[in-house]
Amino acid sequence: MAELPTVPNHYRYCPRCGQSLSLRPDGGRQRATCEACGFIHFSTFSLGVGGIVVRDNKVLFIRRGQDPGKGRWTIPGGYVEQDEPFEEAVVRELFEETSVRTEVQGVLAARNSLSQRDSNVYIVFTLRDLGGGPECDGEEVDRAEFLAPHEFEALAELAPVSKYFAQMALETAAAPLTASEFAGQTSGYAYSMFDIAGFNPHALDLD
Ligand SMILES: [Zn+2]
Repeated sequence: MAELPTVPNHYRYCPRCGQSLSLRPDGGRQRATCEACGFIHFSTFSLGVGGIVVRDNKVLFIRRGQDPGKGRWTIPGGYVEQDEPFEEAVVRELFEETSVRTEVQGVLAARNSLSQRDSNVYIVFTLRDLGGGPECDGEEVDRAEFLAPHEFEALAELAPVSKYFAQMALETAAAPLTASEFAGQTSGYAYSMFDIAGFNPHALDLD
């Protein structure tokens, strides 16, 4: 039998109980497994969110005040907490970084990037401007500004993917995916979903 690939960058010690982990085959991979408590390290993922806010045909950008990426301009955003819905995380991060109050209109894009460290998923939301800001703390973020296309396109330190999403948002009348009205969830956990804007399953009913 061919050697099974090992999950990259796996844990050496159990994050629950501290025991040394051993590699065991599970679902086509060698996975770090705890013989004491049963913990299995399947994979490492991280979830980030970014938000596009447009005011007077200008897009909100921030400049990072700290490493990694000090001096780099991006759309605002950050990481999602495990117990926080992603559409709340983006509104919170936007406010923390720029003092701009927003609400979610919908999802514009999703991006997945793989590294040796993890698999990172980044969801880009379009946000409705509710006013305030832009102001920043001068430390984690040292600039927060609404910029017209000719202004942000001229920035030398602009993240290419941020420029791409800003241009896309300005050309897109409405977010392609909006908060779902699907009510079929059966578990008691928090649940949120974005799907095709305006989709009405009852329009498909035949009489
Ligand atoms: Zn354990």
